[in-house]
Amino acid sequence: QPVTNFVRHPDFVAYLERGDYRDPVTLRSSRSDAVLQVRLIEFGEERKLLNSRDITAQERLETMRRDLVANVSHELKTPVTVLSGFVETLADKTIEVSAAQRQRFLGLMAEQARRMQQLVEDLLTLSALESSPAPQDEAPIEMLPFVEQLAEEARALSASRHRVVVRVDGDCRLTGNAKELHSAFSNLVSNAVRYTPEGGAVTLFWKLEGARGVFGVEDTGIGVEPRHIPRLTERFYRVDQGRSRDTGGTGLGLAIVKHVLTRHQASLEVESELGRGSVFRAVFPAQRITPLDPARAVA
Ligand code: ADP
Repeated sequence: QPVTNFVRHPDFVAYLERGDYRDPVTLRSSRSDAVLQVRLIEFGEERKLLNSRDITAQERLETMRRDLVANVSHELKTPVTVLSGFVETLADKTIEVSAAQRQRFLGLMAEQARRMQQLVEDLLTLSALESSPAPQDEAPIEMLPFVEQLAEEARALSASRHRVVVRVDGDCRLTGNAKELHSAFSNLVSNAVRYTPEGGAVTLFWKLEGARGVFGVEDTGIGVEPRHIPRLTERFYRVDQGRSRDTGGTGLGLAIVKHVLTRHQASLEVESELGRGSVFRAVFPAQRITPLDPARAVA
């Protein structure tokens, strides 16, 4: 039977008819996201070998890379445009700028510069996480002081607009890279503060659930509709662009959280109700939890 009876993809049929088989042909399924790279190799007399490679995963990575470049450029575009606009205005001797205006412009310029700085920092964090397979310098971390420190940072960020509460129940240590875990947890904490209106509460907790350890942040903030939850850890995914940017968000925070947790064999659980608040929980496996040594516990 002719091979086109088995493989009916129009691009494949066209490839065969063209008769030039030096390059492979890429076939995309109309029913799934599968992508095959097919090549016909002629050999011997009248013999042909059909070689087919599944390049679905490769294509997906390539799409992700393209999206990342497009997103980063897009994110940088606004602050750069705003900054250069103000620089031009201030440099132009023919435009009269009052001292008060000048001060205001400089404030806005500083804000845009901070935004770019934060974006670059988050991108560097992500790239560092991606370029090393496992966290270095793992050590047991005492959770009470660790969580207390995060709470102090939350209070500084909140500037008394929220009530910040700490609840540490499990007397134990968590083994991991302190710097990475601090970065992940503080992203959760800063989100809770940023997405909770004034007067709300932010609770940081650490507890044991069976043999597993759970760090969590609960807030009484704006919440997230369930349909968004599965996508929150995607780079640059934001439910509300304006709100994220206005509060200094880069859209990369939860992507960093996801990365750090995966490297620690932990998972992120999100529960949220629109208008009522959210709970973000990082659940660590038993092998990362060690009880405080008995001597210390007694002391
Ligand atoms: P961002 O820098 O935009 O905060 P993140 O990756 O940290 O980026 O979070 C992604 C999106 O998830 C946010 O833009 C926001 O819409 C939503 N989100 C994260 N944390 C919370 C929270 N505690 N309450 C409500 N929405 C949240």
